[in-house]
Amino acid sequence: MLLSITLGEVTCPICNQSMHKIGDSYSLCKSCKYMYSSEQHGAGAEVISLEVIRRKNFKFICRIIKEKFPQAKTILDVGCSKGFFLKIARDEGFLVTGLEPTEHLAKEARSYGFDVIDGFFPQTENLLNKKYDIIIFNDSFEHIPNLQEIVQGIKNHLTDEGCVIINIPTSDGLIFKTTSVLYKFGIKTPYHRMWQKGFPSPHIHYFNLQNLKKLFENNGFAMHYSSPLQYFTIQGLWKRISCKSSFIVSIFTWLFMILLYPLLSVRSDNFMACFTLKN
Ligand SMILES: [Zn+2]
Repeated sequence: MLLSITLGEVTCPICNQSMHKIGDSYSLCKSCKYMYSSEQHGAGAEVISLEVIRRKNFKFICRIIKEKFPQAKTILDVGCSKGFFLKIARDEGFLVTGLEPTEHLAKEARSYGFDVIDGFFPQTENLLNKKYDIIIFNDSFEHIPNLQEIVQGIKNHLTDEGCVIINIPTSDGLIFKTTSVLYKFGIKTPYHRMWQKGFPSPHIHYFNLQNLKKLFENNGFAMHYSSPLQYFTIQGLWKRISCKSSFIVSIFTWLFMILLYPLLSVRSDNFMACFTLKN
């Protein structure tokens, strides 16, 4: 379960097999397709210009919570950043708490009146003895290195009938698949961008629905619901691409995504999955 890394060799935390190296930074489990990056992890600023898409997805998630878990009242948002999900969930009537390791982001979320716990999940002392009906990871699960510790933390802080929701990019998405092919032909920048390599908080893991489900099932959870989520909208796309890439790379990426927009929306690069503890 814990990633074991010996002399550069990584063992898959889901099926315990040796992983295949891709370039200097990445590893792939050929059995379950789980992927791992050896990039240095950290807390950090979020990718900009995601508001439009996030609002849409967050409203959808709140609707699913009400539909599938009508008894749920309290929500812990792990990696809440400035509190965007907290705002939407509060407006929907939930009692919300954020957890955010980056001081200035936590401070901003607090300025909107939210209760925000400092530190990393699940080590922070401020989380001691607290339990929630819903623990949600909105684009944060893939940034946390120790899977064993996260899953145990979820078990410790979930109420008996509680549910953990993972909102995460998928390695089955069309954009990710396309960048993987380009990488094999030596065009590596788009692939690094998908992993957020060089960002303050790069992706450590890349899952798909099947291997994420297996990870949770191996640890006593059952999947209750899953759905693709929208990955991008044309509005705000240029800002999102150009915030970290050179002008030339940004132009090509933007054109590619605009031209293939209808296709890319069919096979999304994001999904959500809900897991509950088996009795
Ligand atoms: Zn595996």
